[in-house]
Amino acid sequence: MMISFENTFSSLPASLYSVVNPTAVRQPHLIRLNDRLAEELGLDAQWLRTADGLAALSGNAVVSGSRPIAFAYAGHQFGNFVPQLGDGRAILLGEVVGRDGTRRDIQLKGAGRTPYSRRGDGRAALGPVLREYIVSEAMNAFGVPTTRALAAVATGDRVQRETGLPGAVLTRVAASHIRVGTFQYAAARGDAEALRRLADYVIARHFPQAGDADNRYLSMFDHVVRAQANLVAHWMSLGFIHGVMNTDNMAISGETIDYGPCAFMDIYDPAKVFSSIDQFGRYAFGNQPRVAAWNLARLAETLLPLIDEKQERAVTLVQEMLGGFREMFEEAHLRRMRKKLGLSTENPEDARLVEDLLEAMHQDQADFTLTFRSLSSLPADESGPGRLTDLFSDPKRIVAWHNRYEARLLLDPVSPQERGQAMLQINPRFIPRNHRIESVIRAAVYENDYAPFHGLVRVLATPFSDEPVDGGYELPPRPDEEVLQTFCGT
Ligand code: AMP
Ligand code: MG
Ligand code: MG
Repeated sequence: MMISFENTFSSLPASLYSVVNPTAVRQPHLIRLNDRLAEELGLDAQWLRTADGLAALSGNAVVSGSRPIAFAYAGHQFGNFVPQLGDGRAILLGEVVGRDGTRRDIQLKGAGRTPYSRRGDGRAALGPVLREYIVSEAMNAFGVPTTRALAAVATGDRVQRETGLPGAVLTRVAASHIRVGTFQYAAARGDAEALRRLADYVIARHFPQAGDADNRYLSMFDHVVRAQANLVAHWMSLGFIHGVMNTDNMAISGETIDYGPCAFMDIYDPAKVFSSIDQFGRYAFGNQPRVAAWNLARLAETLLPLIDEKQERAVTLVQEMLGGFREMFEEAHLRRMRKKLGLSTENPEDARLVEDLLEAMHQDQADFTLTFRSLSSLPADESGPGRLTDLFSDPKRIVAWHNRYEARLLLDPVSPQERGQAMLQINPRFIPRNHRIESVIRAAVYENDYAPFHGLVRVLATPFSDEPVDGGYELPPRPDEEVLQTFCGT
């Protein structure tokens, strides 16, 4: 037995999942194995590279001890409630307890049809698998809570989308795959017992502190709200747009999940949308805190009967918490932005300073990532904005802003050297830029060339590095390279 699977989900009500095995693929081929993650999980990377390991990672064999299931869930997709979604192409193999003692789900995405597949084929195309591998691992390198990618396997089968495309399977690792939509599923069925057992499971697995609270379910909700406020603030401090924040794509654990149409902004624009299906900008960059709060309100609705027998009282309690979300988010966001600017102290003017920098970036078309990186790497003894101005179409605003910034820095006790060092550790030099992702996908899909994919993954593993790296990975797209749209990538 080469993977010690556990299956605690079996303690959940059977109505929440279906037992289903992966469907075998024709000719599995390992594209990439995440050795570092395998090690963290206590898995034998060497074994994972053998024929038996490959069979496990492609779904061609079920390792003993694994009891594969697909989870049911519901969800609001772009605001419309769908009572049954579920893992239509993802199969949970089981859990492993890593070296740090953390229990994590191991799931195969693209592993074949399940009872929740509806009209889908249960498969994943190579492009979206590579995209998820790249972006989720980059997010982890930034320190953002996220699902991880343990492996990408090419299946040797074609999947039919608008055209025929090579198929692939991603091994996804998550603190758990329980979503807001999982609660909505139990609630929509009117299954009070299932709901309670699900909540108890979530408390035990993710928020054991809540177990001791007077009102454990209210406390659980509080933890979820806080985790989301922090998560979305973290995303936004990096220019990340999730792109499909449906309630089924919000993990209860507070990890980022579902890397379908996600993208990082190049030029800063709060209204930025990449997803081809997000016509009205519901999931635009600047809307993300509002959407998160909306999703949390949907979670709250499912929890009311657990929180208090008297509905009115339960409503008051959750509303109080939801009312605090915006402030929690703003605080978390300002905390991150202060760090990005190298401010170690707090000043009442800081929020304005941050807003005005963003406004200058927006008005004068500056690259979000490079602006912060350039602020970080200004030589400590050089006064004035230096190369920073090159990033702005018109230097006036940023020069004026930079004068205020310098005045603010004088109030901060940290030495310029120390500040610069700290800023380089928080403002990435490399992000998974869309045009680079698309270009590595094109090479893999149309030329069977995986070298660009491996190169990008390697660079993004150390996104704060100041070491010389060839390949122009830090550069924004030239106008002809710019990617305007992303797709859900089924
Ligand atoms: P997503 O937009 O990725 O959140 O997926 C929404 C729903 O569609 C989920 O229930 C997925 O399991 C399902 N789904 C997506 N792609 C496929 C596919 N190729 N086959 C079956 N179900 C799918
Ligand atoms: Mg999804
Ligand atoms: Mg998806």
